[in-house]
Amino acid sequence: MSQQYRVRPLLLGEAEVGCALDVFWGMNKDQGRVTVPILAFLIEGGRDPILIDAGMRSADRAMQIHRLGPHRIPAGMTLPEQLGRYGVKPEEVGCVILTHLHYDHCGGCEQLPNARIVVQRSELAAAAAPMGPRTLDIGSRELFYDRHDVAAMVDTLWDRVELIEGDIELFPGIECILYPNSHTPGSQCVYIKTLDGIVGCVGDMVRKVDMNVRKAIPAGIFYDLEQMQRAMRDIAIRGDIIYPAHDPIVLEEDEAKRRAALSPGKPWP
Ligand SMILES: [Zn+2]
Repeated sequence: MSQQYRVRPLLLGEAEVGCALDVFWGMNKDQGRVTVPILAFLIEGGRDPILIDAGMRSADRAMQIHRLGPHRIPAGMTLPEQLGRYGVKPEEVGCVILTHLHYDHCGGCEQLPNARIVVQRSELAAAAAPMGPRTLDIGSRELFYDRHDVAAMVDTLWDRVELIEGDIELFPGIECILYPNSHTPGSQCVYIKTLDGIVGCVGDMVRKVDMNVRKAIPAGIFYDLEQMQRAMRDIAIRGDIIYPAHDPIVLEEDEAKRRAALSPGKPWP
């Protein structure tokens, strides 16, 4: 019998970003700003608690380095506080799987003293040597990777870092799937078997399920368009419910509403 898991969203901060980031070439036509949550996910039901992503290191650094709009981590949204809602202490987390290494996904790793840290090798390489021009207005030369996160990963955290290459079933019923040159060079999605079907924790591969997956218009930040479209198709096939890392609907308590918004549909033949 395979393991049955539960996936809980953790709210690790908020950011104000342009709606244009939601889709390719800003095709949602809405040029306004929205406040989005910065989410991570706790997987219960394994031997130890497992985390997917770990939030940002510091709201100030996010604004300074990447030249982004307001970011905050209000009281109650720190990683220990959010884990505490489910009775988990940071030292009890046995594994953190990083969808990618952008500042808002891996900044909290140092708060997890015992977790092995699972990331794609190509993602760490890209984060260490990003190809951003100095002139880039948003994201800057670092392309949303924080040098402090990379430094920690290759030094103080290194003994616990586990580099993977490609697709792997990390635990029974928990699969990491690599999508090369998609949202980032080494973005991966995590698919978890639960009683409610396969939950896809997709990081920033998807910002809005309707726009990006059902309508097949990729999210605004990506490396290779065809790879991104292949990824959207694969996500739609694999997942029964899709959890993007920055869509507030993930926090909706009404299960039917949440499911309606986050089911991928079958957009491709
Ligand atoms: Zn993100």
